[in-house]
Amino acid sequence: MKPTVIIIGRPNVGKSTLFNRLVGKKLALVDDQPGVTRDRRIGDASIAGLEFTVVDTAGWEDEDPDTLPGRMRAQTEVSLEGADAAMFVVDARSGLTPLDEEIGRWLRGQSVPVVLVVNKAEGAAGESGVLESYSLGLGEPIPISAEHGEGVADLFQGLWPVI
Ligand code: GDP
Ligand code: MG
Repeated sequence: MKPTVIIIGRPNVGKSTLFNRLVGKKLALVDDQPGVTRDRRIGDASIAGLEFTVVDTAGWEDEDPDTLPGRMRAQTEVSLEGADAAMFVVDARSGLTPLDEEIGRWLRGQSVPVVLVVNKAEGAAGESGVLESYSLGLGEPIPISAEHGEGVADLFQGLWPVI
């Protein structure tokens, strides 16, 4: 069975853009399991021959962006179960927010390996965000631009040791 990699992060960091980039034109199946993560999408991804199932989540999207409600946390925990790795996406342009820090803290307490992905890192505007993301304590960040397709192949370096 292929490993499963879940994409996690607060709203608007580019999770779905990354998902679409990884899945390409392949049809994304909709998982409409009621009461679990709404709009959870599952697809087949391949980076340089590394094949995995990728899961897009929307678990935090309806909530106050500065809080981490238990209900949403529970939904993401369900999604995390059975995942072989998580890609935690943050936004290089906006910088880290309290919610990023809270999700990061929470992920550090989980047993799943985490690959830190700094999206929107194209151009000079993303540089400080990439440096700032080291403070999450989740290892070396991988800068990408999901929208422009830059750096996505570098995710291989983060993923292959853990899946
Ligand atoms: P999600 O809420 O985390 O799923 O984020 P989305 O994938 O819906 O993207 C949120 C916004 O960020 C959209 O307007 C995207 O076009 C934009 N976005 C996504 N990836 C990039 C990127 O690599 N660079 C820039 N500048 N914008 C991006
Ligand atoms: Mg999304």
